[in-house]
Amino acid sequence: MKKKLKCHCGEVEAEINLPENDFSKLVKCNCTICKRKGVIMSMVKNEDFSITKGKHRLTLYQFHTKDAKHYFCSKCGIYTHHNPRSNPAMTGFNVACIDDVDTFKFKDISINDGKNHPLDKK
Ligand SMILES: [Zn+2]
Repeated sequence: MKKKLKCHCGEVEAEINLPENDFSKLVKCNCTICKRKGVIMSMVKNEDFSITKGKHRLTLYQFHTKDAKHYFCSKCGIYTHHNPRSNPAMTGFNVACIDDVDTFKFKDISINDGKNHPLDKK
């Protein structure tokens, strides 16, 4: 099933191919950036996520080890997607950017312990 993701102003659009016809897992994360964003995310393989409009509008934000890539729309500021440090072959995305998704109806949201990232352990 294909889903369309859109930032708030509509400059950035992406197409997501959901292999299971549903979100594999809904997650919130407690790392320093996700804590601030407070978004509910899900994940697909990189090949199942493609920007269809407004690539030039996206801004890349990186911090700490600069492995993860966090993207947001430079016009409306909405986080659209990211490639996590723990698995760059995957794309995490903002499920609230999908029009027919009501994130307030979600009941089963996992918490990802990004605060204690496995790659930060020595
Ligand atoms: Zn926008």
